[in-house]
Amino acid sequence: MSFLRSAFIALSGNSLLRRFVERSVPGRRMSARFVAGFRIEDAMTAAHALHQQGFSVTLDSLGENVSSVGQARQAAQIYHWLLDAIAPSSLNANVSLKLTQMGMDLDPALALENVSGLVRHAAAARNFVRVDMEGAAYTQPTIDVVRNLHAAPENRGHVGIVIQAYLRRSAGDIDALVKDGIRIRLCKGAYKEPPSLAFPDKKDVDANYVALMKMLLKSGIFHGIATHDPAMIAATKEFARAERIDPSTFEFQMLYGIRRDLQRSLVEEGYGVRVYVPFGDEWYPYFMRRLAERPANVLFLARNLLRR
Ligand SMILES: Cc1cc2nc3c(=O)[nH]c(=O)nc-3n(C[C@H](O)[C@H](O)[C@H](O)COP(=O)(O)OP(=O)(O)OC[C@H]3O[C@@H](n4cnc5c(N)ncnc54)[C@H](O)[C@@H]3O)c2cc1C
Repeated sequence: MSFLRSAFIALSGNSLLRRFVERSVPGRRMSARFVAGFRIEDAMTAAHALHQQGFSVTLDSLGENVSSVGQARQAAQIYHWLLDAIAPSSLNANVSLKLTQMGMDLDPALALENVSGLVRHAAAARNFVRVDMEGAAYTQPTIDVVRNLHAAPENRGHVGIVIQAYLRRSAGDIDALVKDGIRIRLCKGAYKEPPSLAFPDKKDVDANYVALMKMLLKSGIFHGIATHDPAMIAATKEFARAERIDPSTFEFQMLYGIRRDLQRSLVEEGYGVRVYVPFGDEWYPYFMRRLAERPANVLFLARNLLRR
């Protein structure tokens, strides 16, 4: 299993395969399992359908590691359009973006400028920008950018971050971020990291996830518990009950198309559930990470390839 996970994560960075698959008709058809479509309109349609079923959403215009200033500015522009599309709607919707999509690899100042403009826009619209967490090379730069932006009083509460439970450093990061009052999404982590930085065994990742979840729920700040793992969800519910923490002070978060049964049952039980809705042409690396998480998804992929 671990071999397959590594193989899919390695393939997620293969630009030749990516160019071929992203444009191919079977590829685009397969992506529909985890991706809401290719245009802003598609994402908004999916968001409205989820809203009808009692979910809130975070919209993700797919893209990462852009290689030109123009691409970075265009990526930021799409998020400005998204914030404009959300503002007049009845949706409980915010946006999720990646620093490398905003130009971090080209020039950290460019990425900061792009994200800063979006956080200003979100603050003016009383909305929220979540900066996703990428591979370990970006952990500290992402924390620095988010803390820097959040320190401006007008941005307070309008920008948040993601922390990965597989990283050994995460308890210390949560401690500092919570002191600043920053909203955190807690996830397990989707990249391939060395054992020096990340727990290699699932049982250690899970134990750390539960410990970090407790830190978040006790913090008095509204955080996102992002997982499809029934054991993590049960531990969260149980801790909230035992500590008399009101479930309205946190939310569960899950990915579009994954464990929809669990998403629905949590809403039926009265928990807040935010669905992460990715859309856009650049779906390949995101898609490959979803295969890495659950290689059985390849069977689904194969069925789609055979279907005419
Ligand atoms: C809202 C949200 C935002 C995220 N943002 C980030 C981020 O910014 N940075 C980052 O590194 N990672 C992010 N992730 C991904 C995360 O790190 C994990 O890789 C992913 O959620 C799988 O972990 P899990 O907690 O679901 O538990 P796992 O132990 O991996 O899975 C538990 C169960 O969930 C189901 N499941 C999990 N993944 C899949 C899948 N791909 N297909 C089908 N079923 C599946 C299976 O039933 C599995 O048994 C995010 C996840 C979510 C839900």
